[in-house]
Amino acid sequence: MTTNGNALAASLTEGPDAPYIHAEDLFKIYKSDELEVVALRGLDLRVQRGEMMAIVGASGSGKSTLLNILAGLDQPSAGRITVGSRDLLTMTDDDLVDYRRREVGFVWQQTGRNLIPYLTAEENVTVPMALDGRSARAARDRARMLLEQVGLTEERRRRPTELSGGQQQRVAIAVALANNPPLLLADEPTGELDSATADEVFDVLTRLNRDTGVTVVIVTHDREITRRVDRVVAMRDGRTSTEIIRRASFSRGQQAQADEYAVVDRSGRLQIPREYLDSLAIGRRARVTLGGDHVEVRSDEEPEEAGR
Ligand code: ADP
Ligand code: MG
Repeated sequence: MTTNGNALAASLTEGPDAPYIHAEDLFKIYKSDELEVVALRGLDLRVQRGEMMAIVGASGSGKSTLLNILAGLDQPSAGRITVGSRDLLTMTDDDLVDYRRREVGFVWQQTGRNLIPYLTAEENVTVPMALDGRSARAARDRARMLLEQVGLTEERRRRPTELSGGQQQRVAIAVALANNPPLLLADEPTGELDSATADEVFDVLTRLNRDTGVTVVIVTHDREITRRVDRVVAMRDGRTSTEIIRRASFSRGQQAQADEYAVVDRSGRLQIPREYLDSLAIGRRARVTLGGDHVEVRSDEEPEEAGR
């Protein structure tokens, strides 16, 4: 790496077109005794402010690792990642506490993990505000406003056990947004819900994104959700592999056009879908040639003498 780190960090965070979330060549290695797991291996990701996007991928592809890093719950091992003006690799512990409290809200898959069981819905929403030093009255007023936004005004005095799974997740969204963070992260928020209930939760996320401009990143398996966001990024083996972008913004009942792209990283690497590799019998090497306005990739049957 010959790039000047500081200059690059500055270029990542400055300028009106700079992405809100910008990860480049991001690595996360989990070490335990003798075992090393590379959960993220050179991940690239850009998310614009106000975007609503989904991350999909097989189990173990690194989705939760990425989300935990974005949430400030875990620190990356190497690479670059900025959110707004903050550099998540170099943040101090104090910065991290502030980041978690003000910059991001997080919704877990397990409904039980999001809420304090002995508090009512309204009390649950006031907790993050109390921790941030808000007055009880201001916290209560905002909690009511947020519960109204997620459609739970009537249920505000109920405890989690007196709410359905979908209602609990909607309270969890209100809790996540209590301190008005610009970023909302959700790790399979509808993973434990049936499809009708999942839809309610997703409606709330869509509406909040539209009305408040909060940037939303959702990890999901839900096919329905992936059809309704602006952009779907697929992860494979700790990297982003493909991106699906809607040409028209979604509105109910309208079939939006979707284009699928392979992600090309800074070094020019891209992932060719497994089924293409299999059908062309491409193994460890491929011939790559420029074919006018496109690139051709062929299997390397004969010995290659041209070198690199
Ligand atoms: P996903 O959410 O896409 O299923 P994860 O991010 O949870 O994937 O995991 C990615 C890889 O990292 C997996 O191989 C997983 O076993 C490993 N991993 C995740 N968390 C830890 C951890 N705390 N310690 C060790 N390995 C982990
Ligand atoms: Mg996961």
